[in-house]
Amino acid sequence: MSEKTGVPKIGVYLCRCGGNISDVIDVESIVDEVSGMDGVVFADVQDYMCSSAGQGQIKNDIEEGRIERVVIGCCSPKLHLETFRAMAKKAGTNPMLLEITNIREQCSWVHDDSDEATRKANGLIKGAVSRMNELESLEPITKDVKDKALVVGGGIAGITAALEIADEREVILIDKAPYIGGHMIGLSKTFPTFDCSQCTLTPKMVEVFNHPNITLYTQTEVASVDGNVGDFKVTLHHSPRYVDIDVCTSCGRCADKCPKDAITLPFAQAIPQAYIIDMEKCTECGLCEKVCPTSAVRLEEEAKERQVDVGAITIATGFEPIDPSIIEEYNYNHHPDIITAIEFEDMLSAKSKTGMRLQKADGTMPQKVAFALCVGSRDFNRGNKHCSKVCCLYSQKQAQLVLKMNKDADVT
Ligand SMILES: Cc1cc2nc3c(=O)[nH]c(=O)nc-3n(C[C@H](O)[C@H](O)[C@H](O)COP(=O)(O)OP(=O)(O)OC[C@H]3O[C@@H](n4cnc5c(N)ncnc54)[C@H](O)[C@@H]3O)c2cc1C
Ligand code: SF4
Ligand code: SF4
Repeated sequence: MSEKTGVPKIGVYLCRCGGNISDVIDVESIVDEVSGMDGVVFADVQDYMCSSAGQGQIKNDIEEGRIERVVIGCCSPKLHLETFRAMAKKAGTNPMLLEITNIREQCSWVHDDSDEATRKANGLIKGAVSRMNELESLEPITKDVKDKALVVGGGIAGITAALEIADEREVILIDKAPYIGGHMIGLSKTFPTFDCSQCTLTPKMVEVFNHPNITLYTQTEVASVDGNVGDFKVTLHHSPRYVDIDVCTSCGRCADKCPKDAITLPFAQAIPQAYIIDMEKCTECGLCEKVCPTSAVRLEEEAKERQVDVGAITIATGFEPIDPSIIEEYNYNHHPDIITAIEFEDMLSAKSKTGMRLQKADGTMPQKVAFALCVGSRDFNRGNKHCSKVCCLYSQKQAQLVLKMNKDADVT
């Protein structure tokens, strides 16, 4: 601040960028306009602000006490902000009191109309000067960072993230489902290579489960997050499984005895490889408890919370498909052979209930298959406004899968 007035002493420096800016924008007129603004004690134009001459001028002006704060109108801050701030620091002012306003990429390069481009650049520079009047010096702070990461979501993205982080440090991987793998575990073959999704995914799932640096919690969601980057306190909410995954050997004796089909293994390759009780079906008769050779059943188990301290959180919660019945003209709810792409994948995947066979509701192989693309996508009224970015790819894959199973099928 100027000792006399208490107003910051701001220097405004505009760059011609060898004509890149000044061929379109009348930079001299902007200098005239901003010169009278509060706090501005100096405004000038240079051919190349990033050159030694340009930087040297700002440095001298700071060192000689002529200015304390700097607004530069030039190219994108991505290019030179750090260079200019380092120079400002060297010259003796707080680097956070130097700002760049982009009048090249966001003005001269994108507007043909010289008057309008000048008007826009003028407004941007004036805005930067007003902001500069309000800015406060900032000093970098150092603090300890928790050397542990939380990954939320155990689909292929979360699994990959967890494994990569675990090369260096501890990871907690959580998934709200009773198993990891996300949607990919329910896919059949995968584009572009037509590999079976389980062949790619299950080794990674097992690696996650056995990795000494990864703690896996399924049926777990984030209840709350406090703190900041480097030091988060996260409260996790665990829903009960009613079977202790550390003790269950997946022998299946409980399921053989259960009269309600309430205790099941989610699917053959599920990780964790442990049974789970569906309390909607369970009558708590206790038969499973009696036959379990390892005393793994926990009918009294309740939801619980735990707090974890982590330095970073990776969100990999993937996607939820829309319910096509919201778009009535597709008649999804009215015909058993109108299925979603995910239901198609389910039939052919490791989780298949049809013996990995594509079939109609009457059990026969379809002779004609039509694919409707973009259902619920790019629709401003029903479903999502955005493109799913995958339906064009997987429908081509699924069309080829149909033809592999039935080369005479009529596929549209
Ligand atoms: C019909 C269909 C066919 C496809 N075919 C192919 C193909 O052939 N090849 C290909 O490369 N891609 C294909 N895809 C795309 C592929 O499925 C996705 O790109 C991939 O599954 C995305 O993985 P993800 O880990 O990001 O998300 P997801 O698979 O959605 O996994 C997200 C995980 O996060 C968990 N989760 C969600 N919310 C929370 C929460 N709040 N707390 C904790 N956990 C949470 C979920 O339970 C889930 O396990 C297909 C997609 C569809 C719909
Ligand atoms: S308590 Fe009875 S109904 Fe419930 S899972 Fe066990 S055997 Fe099945
Ligand atoms: S009987 Fe016990 S160990 Fe065997 S699958 Fe059931 S819960 Fe697991």
